[in-house]
Amino acid sequence: MKNLNKFLELKGEKKFRIKQITESVYKNGIISFSDMSFLSSDFKKELEKNVKILDFIVLKVIGKIEDNFLKALLKLDDGNLIETVLISPKPGIWSCCISSQVGCPCNCTFCDTGKMGFIRNLTDKEIYDQVLFWNNFIKNSDLINSKRIDSIVYMGMGEPLLNYKNVKDSLKILTNENYFNFGNRHISISTIGIKDKLAVFSKEFPQINLAISLHFSSNEKRVKYMPYTINTNLKDLKKFLNKRLLKNKRKVFLEYIMIKDINDTKEDLINLINFIKSINNNYLLHINLIPCNNNDDINFLTSEMKNIFYFKNNLNKNNISATIRKSLGEESYSACGQLANK
Ligand code: SAH
Repeated sequence: MKNLNKFLELKGEKKFRIKQITESVYKNGIISFSDMSFLSSDFKKELEKNVKILDFIVLKVIGKIEDNFLKALLKLDDGNLIETVLISPKPGIWSCCISSQVGCPCNCTFCDTGKMGFIRNLTDKEIYDQVLFWNNFIKNSDLINSKRIDSIVYMGMGEPLLNYKNVKDSLKILTNENYFNFGNRHISISTIGIKDKLAVFSKEFPQINLAISLHFSSNEKRVKYMPYTINTNLKDLKKFLNKRLLKNKRKVFLEYIMIKDINDTKEDLINLINFIKSINNNYLLHINLIPCNNNDDINFLTSEMKNIFYFKNNLNKNNISATIRKSLGEESYSACGQLANK
């Protein structure tokens, strides 16, 4: 079985034919050659025999459309497993959360993907095929009215900025008008912040949304619970944000998982307020407070709701924009890496 693009190139297919086929696949979400009415039946058969469109097998899909949350477990050609999520944050709007690596090298202690260790980077195709899969899923579902995915977040397994080359290539395909044709502003990257890559990404994709997984407001705690951040401390993040917010007047999201007794004390809150206030143009920052998903690890329990509200209210009182993000799908093992890891 061959990759579609490679097969068409090797066959020496004419340009318009390649365009017709790739547009059907990527723009219109057709992932079966038999549905391509413009192809001769012989060519359809040949393609079906030799080419596979998705670079993985879908092992299972869990969750319910009525609950606005679905998760798929995907088996890659080498047997590795990854997961991808479909969420409806608002009625009629569907967003997908995609993985960029098998496992993750960052080893954040509260994140299930971290426990798997790092296995390998995903290729650009393995990344954008997750979107192709969900586009087609939506199209074939009687229960979903939308025609396709509205937005994409790189918030599944892995650290996107540590697989920058392939993530970059996948972004190019997702935004290319001959392929998926997504608007840059409909795509978000979530990262713990990798010093040299943050600036490169910002320069190359200024219109793509950026979310930084901050989670801790002192370097000491951040390094303790997110060991990889030893390479990119709060000072580095501040330096980057000062530059980025001055140049690019778009919002940057700071993610803050609320973990009971670990990062939800008054001292953590004061440090957080001081950190935000120390950044220029901080009106462009938005804090997402996320109740930690309770997993098997009793060290990481979710903060009490009243404490999460205490954080939000105090941030708001200090003129810092902050909201509480509902954590969808906790019941169905939705937290980062929890499906592929079971
Ligand atoms: N490596 C990147 C992309 C992974 S997505 C990054 O860290 O940003 C990371 C996101 O997964 C976090 O910002 C958080 O929103 C979510 N997450 C990870 N562990 C979680 C947990 N235990 N509870 C709730 N959300 C979690």
